[in-house]
Amino acid sequence: MRPVARRKGKSRRRIKDWQRRFREEDITSLDADQTETLQRDRVKLPPWRLKEEMGQVEAPEGPSDEGMVTGLFPGCVQVRVGDEELLCRIAGTFRPPKDISALAVGDQVTIVRARDEHVSGQGDIDKDRADGVLVSRRPRETVLSRPQRRGRYDEVFEKVVAANMEVLLIVTSVRQPRLRPGLVDRFCIIAERGEMLPLVVFNKIDLGEVDEAFAAELATGGIPTVRCSALTGAGLDDLRAALAGRRSILAGASGVGKSAIVNAIVPGADLPTREIRMKDERGRHATTAATLHKLPGGGLIVDTPGVRELALEMDDTELTWYFPEMVALAGECKFNNCTHTHEPDCAVRSAAEAGEIAPRRYHGYLRILETL
Ligand code: GDP
Ligand code: ZN
Repeated sequence: MRPVARRKGKSRRRIKDWQRRFREEDITSLDADQTETLQRDRVKLPPWRLKEEMGQVEAPEGPSDEGMVTGLFPGCVQVRVGDEELLCRIAGTFRPPKDISALAVGDQVTIVRARDEHVSGQGDIDKDRADGVLVSRRPRETVLSRPQRRGRYDEVFEKVVAANMEVLLIVTSVRQPRLRPGLVDRFCIIAERGEMLPLVVFNKIDLGEVDEAFAAELATGGIPTVRCSALTGAGLDDLRAALAGRRSILAGASGVGKSAIVNAIVPGADLPTREIRMKDERGRHATTAATLHKLPGGGLIVDTPGVRELALEMDDTELTWYFPEMVALAGECKFNNCTHTHEPDCAVRSAAEAGEIAPRRYHGYLRILETL
């Protein structure tokens, strides 16, 4: 085994530390005011300061490249272009939307490279210079996101954890730790909301039996499953086949074997995106960087912090957001704090009974609600 655990422990500590200091959305939404607070009070930022330069950064003349966002830091974005990781500032002409994260891991973006004289040698970038400027983002095909309340008003901001991922790889283990169906349910609706395909992995089949009743329920809901053991290799071919050629993102509680699975199916293992360019003081901000694992037959497995919290921290107001068809009706419920379970004159329940809301969705909602 490679020393994955040690590195992970370190990055977890970093994440904790970082979360204590400021909230993620402050950065990803590129809100100038909040960013200024961050700069002044909390962290030492890279020299290209967001507040001062947001409106000033001009895209240099030069060839543009398409790339994928792999990390977000105060005032700059890490973009993967081919096999290179570039740190980019954001063009003043880039207009962040108000109600959804401006940039997220997985976003497809266009960047213009800095002129040669501004870029120093590989792996040793000049701290004062970015490698390029991000000028635009393509529309997203899928989003892994959650609602976030903003300010005193009932405004909902959509925090995008990852964009353009096709598969949400929901890893569970049959034992150690035990299966938590509620968590799987939550990840499935998160995937559905974002138009991603959920794929549930029952790992550690060498340790015990798969919960057949639950597996059958998933099958009824049309959710594909794979059974495997990262330890013995059983079932891994099925998993490889399911992931081939697709962009997948890892989800699941800790200890279920996500790292073990990646190590087992990605030869030569991970690309150390966090380490390559982030060793200097910026390393402290590296916690939103994703790790990309290229699959041999094409495709990508992306691992990014923040995915786990999506399902773990869900409360009932957040839950309804994942059911837009119910939110649309909830205004007609008699009680404005209606949970759509037992209350009289519930528009959602009536619609479910009349078949206007898919029964599977309504029952899914009830089932998750019970686990919150
Ligand atoms: P993660 O937190 O989801 O990334 O989980 P890890 O990959 O770190 O695995 C947690 C523990 O479970 C480690 O001790 C692994 O060796 C072990 N593990 C992972 N997959 C399997 C498996 O299929 N069978 C068994 N018996 N242990 C496994
Ligand atoms: Zn209701």
